Amino acid sequence: MPESSRTTCCIVGGGPAGVMAGYLFARSGVRVTVLEKHKDFFRDFRGDTVHPSTLQVFYELGLLQQFLKIPHQELRSISLKFGADLFKVADFSHLPTQCKFVALMPQWDLLNFLTEQCKQFHGFDLRMEHEATGLLYSNDRVTGVEVKTPSGNVLISADLVMGCDGRHSIIRQAAHMEVTELGVPVDVLWFRISRKNDDPEASLGNINYGKALVLQSQ
Ligand SMILES: Cc1cc2nc3c(=O)[nH]c(=O)nc-3n(C[C@H](O)[C@H](O)[C@H](O)COP(=O)(O)OP(=O)(O)OC[C@H]3O[C@@H](n4cnc5c(N)ncnc54)[C@H](O)[C@@H]3O)c2cc1C
Repeated sequence: MPESSRTTCCIVGGGPAGVMAGYLFARSGVRVTVLEKHKDFFRDFRGDTVHPSTLQVFYELGLLQQFLKIPHQELRSISLKFGADLFKVADFSHLPTQCKFVALMPQWDLLNFLTEQCKQFHGFDLRMEHEATGLLYSNDRVTGVEVKTPSGNVLISADLVMGCDGRHSIIRQAAHMEVTELGVPVDVLWFRISRKNDDPEASLGNINYGKALVLQSQ
């Protein structure tokens, strides 16, 4: 028999959506279990920009000061090069937010920070290496999640199940929700190269020959 446990809210997926939802539930005193299939958050190419609106949320939650202690770079404007001409296309200094910059920081630092903050709430339970494989139903009502772990299968029943498991969501599939395809207008090739001392500080977009190249320095 698989082991079973019970929680109030079970969130599948420990990405930004799942961890932030977990934080907000736990902060409100709701017992919450977040399931993440990987054993850590160290995955590359997940995006490095933390936008002023996100920083504003951290400010409103009282987390900003501590968050900004994590090593990061502050991007206060963005320039784009169209052919040979350079234009400033974004200037964050006018934003009505606490931070007038984009923070450049790997997503795993953000997730490690948030999960550390979650630990102060005793109703918060993060389970790494817990991969949801399906939903539990009672008649046509979702009552929990089936989970695969390195030490065997687990059934977690919950009053509320949230699918935050990304673009290939197993929860969405198990709930028979249909995806509306909107098309992808751009294909992105994302890679890392070493940085020279005289490379530009700000993210620099080069648009030419019908293609765009964005440099994001770290
Ligand atoms: C190349 C690239 C660059 C990007 N750049 C930026 C950027 O600079 N700034 C920015 O703000 N955004 C950026 N984004 C977008 C950003 O990464 C996403 O918006 C964000 O990660 C979505 O968060 P999420 O929590 O919804 O999903 P995800 O980040 O996809 O998280 C889903 C989580 O669920 C886990 N999971 C999946 N299936 C299961 C399962 N069955 N059981 C348990 N866990 C499961 C996954 O391991 C993952 O941790 C970028 C995205 C890409 C691909």
